[in-house]
Amino acid sequence: MQKIYILIYFLICAGCNKKNIPESNISDQINDSSFVSQNGLLQVMGNKIVNKKNEPISFAGNSFFWSNDNWGGERYYKPEVVKWLKDDWNTTIVRAAMGVEDEGGYLDNKIANKNRVKIIVNAAIEQGLYVIIDWHSHHAEEHTDEAITFFKEMATLYGNFDNIIYEIYNEPLDISWSEIIKPYALNVISAIRAIDPDNLIVVGTPEWSQRVDLAAADPITSYINIAYTLHFYTVYHHQWLRDRSSEALENGIALFVTEWGSIGYNVIDSEADRWMNWCYANKISHLNWAVNDKEEEWSIFKPGTSTLGGWNDADLTDAGKLAKRIISTWPTTH
Ligand code: MG
Repeated sequence: MQKIYILIYFLICAGCNKKNIPESNISDQINDSSFVSQNGLLQVMGNKIVNKKNEPISFAGNSFFWSNDNWGGERYYKPEVVKWLKDDWNTTIVRAAMGVEDEGGYLDNKIANKNRVKIIVNAAIEQGLYVIIDWHSHHAEEHTDEAITFFKEMATLYGNFDNIIYEIYNEPLDISWSEIIKPYALNVISAIRAIDPDNLIVVGTPEWSQRVDLAAADPITSYINIAYTLHFYTVYHHQWLRDRSSEALENGIALFVTEWGSIGYNVIDSEADRWMNWCYANKISHLNWAVNDKEEEWSIFKPGTSTLGGWNDADLTDAGKLAKRIISTWPTTH
């Protein structure tokens, strides 16, 4: 299927100028040729996400690792990494995964974790990429006031930038959508919308963001521009989750894969190909987990890889090579 992706990419995007995004400062980042300037504010329309020309659009990009102090992944929260991912991987979207309640996360060290998010967001704006501000939590409903304070600040700083997507709850555990997650989401969304009326907000779903069916059965209807999180890891999640997700789409909600991981330690992953075919057919955006060099199956780098970009193939794990192949050939509008 990758050959088909490449062929379609060249057929459709041969004339596009994604590589010609000029350098700019955040203060004057509005330019006519950046990727975000071309596509504008993202809008949920039915079960699709569309650009400013009302074209359904899907992105392929990279999620950073947990931002927590001394977990390792925080070393890659650098503007050089965002720029290299854009230039060398054709990444069109990145995700700052701000750890919340675990050791070294936001609740322990607000300034450092928030600054890491800002570094990635500012770099994405400068490079003309979309960026997800992710409240990377498994227990967000226990800290609703903290989430509200954080997202109010983010909305105040960045709500006027089309680049920004708010992800207000990474992966709820096995808890009630209607009784716990949805009320939490309504509280946080209300605070964001009082400041930023329009940027896309993505809401996590029960059971590690796999029960999109529960959100589809009781969606948020009192606010516009809301999508729902779907996560898959190909070692665990197969056709049954695609079937569930297809049914959620048919029931009218828009989905956003803010994380996916391959089987790991292998550049061949037929289940990843099946998932990418599904994302392609349904125009679903997806971000690969994760930009890190930790010795685990989902890291895109081998241990000790530079935190300043400039990586060659020898620096990438097999999972990293697979992710790069998918991301660099992804046809954004098709
Ligand atoms: Mg806005």
